[in-house]
Amino acid sequence: MKRLSVWIKRLIITVLFSLFLFVLLACTDTYITSRLENQLFDTLKDISAQNALLIQSKIADRFDLLTGIAKTFSGDKAINYVDAYTQTNPLSNMLNFRELGLATPNGIAYMSSNTVFNIKHRTYFQKSIQGENYVSEPLIDMRDQTDINVYSVPIYDSSNNVKAVLFAMHDAADFQDCLRVPCFEGKGYTYIINSYGDIITDSPLVSVSADAMTNISDFIFLAPQNEIAVSTMLDNMKNNVAGPIQYTLESDRHAYMTSLNINDWWLVTAVPSSVLKQRIASLTTVIHAIGVIFFIVSVIIMFYMLLRHQRNQKYLQHIAYVDSFTGLHNKPYLTEHFKSLCSKHTSKQTALVVYNIRKFKSVNEIYGTQVGNKILQKFAEIVQKNIDTTCEVAIRDHADEFAVLYYYNTVDRLQQRIQRLIESSKYIECNNNQIQLNLAVGVYTIHNTNDSFEKIYHCANIAAKKNKQITAGQVTYYSEELSEIEAQRKLSEDAIRTGIQNKEFKAWLQPKYNCITKEIIGCEALARWYKPDGSVLTPFHFVPLSEELGIISEIDELIFEDVCRNLSQWLKQGLPCVPVSVNLSRAYLGNPNYLDHLQEIIQRYDIPNKYIHLEITESAIIDNEHLLNQMIEKMHKLGFKVLLDDFGVGYSSLTSINSLNFDVLKIDKSFVDSIGTQTGDCIVQYTIALGQNLGMEIVAEGVETQAQYEFLKQHGCQIIQGYYFSKPLSREDFIQLLCSSKDL
Ligand code: C2E
Ligand code: CA
Ligand code: CA
Repeated sequence: MKRLSVWIKRLIITVLFSLFLFVLLACTDTYITSRLENQLFDTLKDISAQNALLIQSKIADRFDLLTGIAKTFSGDKAINYVDAYTQTNPLSNMLNFRELGLATPNGIAYMSSNTVFNIKHRTYFQKSIQGENYVSEPLIDMRDQTDINVYSVPIYDSSNNVKAVLFAMHDAADFQDCLRVPCFEGKGYTYIINSYGDIITDSPLVSVSADAMTNISDFIFLAPQNEIAVSTMLDNMKNNVAGPIQYTLESDRHAYMTSLNINDWWLVTAVPSSVLKQRIASLTTVIHAIGVIFFIVSVIIMFYMLLRHQRNQKYLQHIAYVDSFTGLHNKPYLTEHFKSLCSKHTSKQTALVVYNIRKFKSVNEIYGTQVGNKILQKFAEIVQKNIDTTCEVAIRDHADEFAVLYYYNTVDRLQQRIQRLIESSKYIECNNNQIQLNLAVGVYTIHNTNDSFEKIYHCANIAAKKNKQITAGQVTYYSEELSEIEAQRKLSEDAIRTGIQNKEFKAWLQPKYNCITKEIIGCEALARWYKPDGSVLTPFHFVPLSEELGIISEIDELIFEDVCRNLSQWLKQGLPCVPVSVNLSRAYLGNPNYLDHLQEIIQRYDIPNKYIHLEITESAIIDNEHLLNQMIEKMHKLGFKVLLDDFGVGYSSLTSINSLNFDVLKIDKSFVDSIGTQTGDCIVQYTIALGQNLGMEIVAEGVETQAQYEFLKQHGCQIIQGYYFSKPLSREDFIQLLCSSKDL
C-alpha cells in the first residue's frame, strides 16, 4: 500500500513536471516561431520596398522619355498638330510606345497613327494640362479592346505655360512587366491598388484567379474574416502607413503594403502563408525535435532524480533510525513511530521496558572495550529474539541502555517474557569467557498512549534506575512514588551542579596524630558543602549521587584547590604546616591526564609536593589494577605519598596490594570498631603486621575510644585519626589547633 502511494506520488510529480515543461516548450516554440515570422515579414517588407523602387524608376524613365520629346514641341513656336504624326510616328515605333499623341489645350488629340479624337474629359489630359506628369490607371483601348496605360506630360511655351499635352499609350501588359519581380521562389507576387482599394494592376504572376479581383473589398466576399485585413489596408492608405497584413483568399496570405508615391497608388507584395511557413518549417522541425528530445530527457532525468531522492531518503532514514552498532532501531525511531505502533494492537496492552546492564563499565574496564562491544551486540541479538518483530520494537538508546515496546495480554505474561530475557542474557560467551550480565529492568505499563514518548521513556528509566539499587534479577515497575524520589534526586543533582559552578565545596581537615608522641603529623581533607542557606553538608549528602552522575572528580578538584589555597596562605603567613591527604575518587583514576591537572594547581599555588598525600580507596583496585599501578607510579614521580584508604572492606587480594606500591595503609573504621572482640583484635593485629611487612606506614581511622587507641599503639600502628583525638575541623579551627599544639 505504502509502495503504491510512493509510485502514485512519483507519477503525479512527473506528470506535473512534464506539464510544466510542455507549457514552457510550447511558449518557447511560439516565441521562436513569431520571431521567425517577423523576420519573414521583414523580408516581405524589403522585397516590397525594392519592387516599389523598381516601378518608380521605370515610370520615371518613361516620363523622362516623354519629357524629352515634349521639349521638342515646347517654346513659342506653334505646333503643327495635323502633321505631328510624321514626327511622332517614328518616335513611337522607335521607343516602343503603342502610340504617341499630341493634344491641344482643348483636348483634341493628334495621334502618331494619324488619327484624331477628343480626350478633353480624360483624367490624364486634365492632370497634364494642369502641369502634372501623370500615368493613368489601366484603360481600354477602344480600338482593339486591349488594356493600356497612358503616360502624359505637359508641353510648355517659353513663359512656362502649358500649351499642349504629350501622351503615350503603353500596353498594360508592359506595365505589368514591372510587377513581374519574382520573389519567394516565384510564389510571391505584387499588385497595385489605389486609395479606394481598386486593384489597378495585378502581377502576371498571380496564378490564383481569386486574386484577380477589381477591388480589395472583393476579398470579403471570398472570406468574411478578411474584413479586418481590408479595413486595415484602407486605414493604412488613409493614414499613409506601410505595414504587414494577413488575409485569406484560396489560402492564407502574408502581405506587405508600401506607398508607391505615384498618384494614390500602393504596392502590395503578397505571398501564400504556406510558402513562409515552409521556409520556417525546417527550422521549426529542428526546434521541435530539440524540444521533444529535451522534453523526454528532462522527464527521464526528473524521474531518475525522484528515484534517487527517494532512495537517498530511505538511506537517510536508515541512518537516522538505526543504531549502526547493534542493528536495532534507535530512540529517535521509537519517538517518531510510537503513536502509530501503539495503535496497531488496540486489543492488547502496551509496556515500555528499559534494560540496563549493571556495572557494564566494569565489564569494559576488566575485559576491554572490544569485548564490551561484542557483549552489547550479543545482548541486542538476544533482545531481538525475545520480541515479536512484526509489531514490537527493540531499541538501543546509548551505551548499555536498551528499551523494548511490548504488547501483552496480562501482566503475568509480560513478567514471564522479561524474566526469560533476564535469564537468557545471564551468561554471555565472548572470546572464551563466560561473562555474567546482570540487568537493571524498569517497566512502564502504558495506560494512556496519548502521553508523549519522552515522558513514558523517562518513567521506564526511573524504574530502571531504582531497580539498580535492589538485587539483580528482579523487575521494578514504575510508580508515582518512584517519580517523586526521582524528582527529588533531580533537584539534588541540579543543586550539586550549581554548587560546583559556584565553588560551594570546601575542605574540612581532620588531624592525624603520631601514636606515640600524640603530635599532629598530618591531616585528611574531607569535603563539606557550604550551601547558600548557611547549612554545611557532609559527603553523605552529595558524594554517592555525584559519583553516580560522574561529577565527583569535579568536587575532588575543588577540594584539592581549596587545600592548596589554605596551605599556600599558611606557608606565606609562616604558620606551621603538615601534609594534607586528599581523597581521589575512582573516576579520577581512570585518566592519567588528571594528575597533570593537579600538578598544575600545585604549581599555581607554589606548594611543595611533600605537603600533599593522595588517598585511593581500596575498592578502586579491583576496577583496573594495571591502570592504577601506572597512576601510582606517576604520583610517586611527582613526589606525592599514596595512601590505600578503607583497607579491609574492598576485598582486594594480597597479591594486588603487594604489587601496588602504596606508601601508607589506612585501616578502615569497621576494623577499628571491631577491636575488643577476639576476631577483631586478631584481624587488626594481622593487618598492622602485614602493612609493616610490606614496608608501609599504618594509619588507623575512626578511632573513638582510648581502648582502641591503646590497642593500636601496643601493636605498632604509627598514626591515629579519629574522634578520640579530633573530629574534622574547619580550616580556621584546624590551624588554631595546630598552632596551639605547637605552642605558637
Ligand atoms: P573516608 O575517606 O573514609 O573519610 C573518613 C570518614 O570517616 C570521614 O567522614 C570522617 O569524618 C569520618 N571519621 C573519621 N574519624 C571518625 C570517627 O572517629 N568516628 C566516626 N564516626 N567517623 C569518623 P566524612 O567526612 O563524612 O566523609 C565520608 C566519606 O566521603 C569519606 O570517607 C570519603 O570516602 C568521602 N569523601 C570525603 N571527602 C571527599 C572528597 O573530597 N573526595 C572524595 N572523592 N570523597 C570524599
Ligand atoms: Ca579517606
Ligand atoms: Ca577511609
